[in-house]
Amino acid sequence: MTELRRIPAAPAAPTAAAVPLTIPSPIVTAPGVAPRVGFVSLGCPKALVDSEQILTQLRAEGYETAKSYDGADLVIVNTCGFIDAAVQESLDAIGEALAENGKVIVTGCLGAKKDAAGDDIIMKIHPKVLAVTGPHALGEVMDSVHLHLPKPHEPFFDLVPSQGVKLTPKHYAYLKISEGCNHRCSFCIIPSMRGDLVSRPIADLMMEAENLFKAGVKELLVISQDTSAYGVDVKFRSGFWNGKPVKTHMTQLTEALGQLAAKYGAWIRLHYVYPYPHVDQVIPMMSGGHVLPYLDIPMQHAHPEVLRRMKRPASGEKNLDRIQAWRAMNPDLTIRSTFIAGFPGETEAEFEYLLEFLKEAQIDRLGCFAYSPVAGATANLLDNPVPEELREERRARVMLLQEEISAKRLQAKVGRTVRVLIDAVNAREAIGRSAADAPEIDGVVHIKKSLMPGKKLAVGEFADVVVTAADAHDLWASVV
Ligand code: SF4
Repeated sequence: MTELRRIPAAPAAPTAAAVPLTIPSPIVTAPGVAPRVGFVSLGCPKALVDSEQILTQLRAEGYETAKSYDGADLVIVNTCGFIDAAVQESLDAIGEALAENGKVIVTGCLGAKKDAAGDDIIMKIHPKVLAVTGPHALGEVMDSVHLHLPKPHEPFFDLVPSQGVKLTPKHYAYLKISEGCNHRCSFCIIPSMRGDLVSRPIADLMMEAENLFKAGVKELLVISQDTSAYGVDVKFRSGFWNGKPVKTHMTQLTEALGQLAAKYGAWIRLHYVYPYPHVDQVIPMMSGGHVLPYLDIPMQHAHPEVLRRMKRPASGEKNLDRIQAWRAMNPDLTIRSTFIAGFPGETEAEFEYLLEFLKEAQIDRLGCFAYSPVAGATANLLDNPVPEELREERRARVMLLQEEISAKRLQAKVGRTVRVLIDAVNAREAIGRSAADAPEIDGVVHIKKSLMPGKKLAVGEFADVVVTAADAHDLWASVV
């Protein structure tokens, strides 16, 4: 029996109409036997949320999920199409599902991608798939499922948990506040796949958040392509929450989520925040302990000319000044960011400018990628591409510098008391995350069992711990 896999990986994607490619006879299950759908979920947190919505809908309609290919009547593969490695991984996953099961519906970013001749990439390589859609295409995916595996006659709506089906551990969840993006960064093809920004109604988000908290979620991670732009598409119109008007705007959403998190004793963490001036208003909300003093700001570079070639949003906002002003308002603020080394045309002087920026900005958590030409990105047409070896060398230089910065910043936490949310407990230790650590991408806090006499820590609980040691990534601590 081959088990289905779920491989968390990279970034986001379009809305292409479902294309029923072949229409063999629908699969008919025996009376009283619920049809079973296998699910393979690849890609970033935004793709994960798409998967959760599809699984929720399947459950709502009475479908069951299968844990193995041979236990499934049909398999859905949610793909990632962001970089070449992710494309290959998705194509391999589709091939595996076809070989092991044979009835496969494909959705996600890769579903919207065409090759240079304008042909559908997936269909060229895997012509036997039943249907292909782009990302964020719940309706089209369900239409394809209904076509090939008719839904049971009596849906068990009451069996669906109010928070929907989640692929994350019970104590944290992602809240996707919008789809698509109005920017056109030259290295990115997401807008061509996912379309322009579409913000979700604020009342829906608040209801979803409350359902998640009621179901035991202790940390809600706000995600989108550009969290700071929430509501731009609907001109920040007002919705209603708890009988009061609330604007479809990042600051009002953060405030409302913070109040809800306080009621349930939970955390809110903000990702993909662009440094527009209104983000300044969010920093004071971070002192109450519920909106975490943490901002994930994908800066990508520091040199104004490189940012101009990248066509980055908010690139003229003087990131260094802004970071310093935020830290003056809240010294505990953790800043995470990602950067690209070796972008086309990047000179040694521009790269050194980036290193100088990093020395001054003292970013807490940093990821750096060597520029990778994504098929269809306009950046590939820019002059003076940087040779691959040099791109890698520059990436390594950034990471070496960051190792030093991170080690110093984490060392400064030794002796301090921090609150952690416990993610895992094993025979030797409990592993938690502090306000400074987002799941899967940042470091963790190790709490040795020998250092918590008489105290039992459980997954999903908060604990206050004293930091006793640090390296460049993680902290070690004992229970207060
Ligand atoms: S902000 Fe830029 S990098 Fe991010 S999704 Fe939009 S176009 Fe892509």
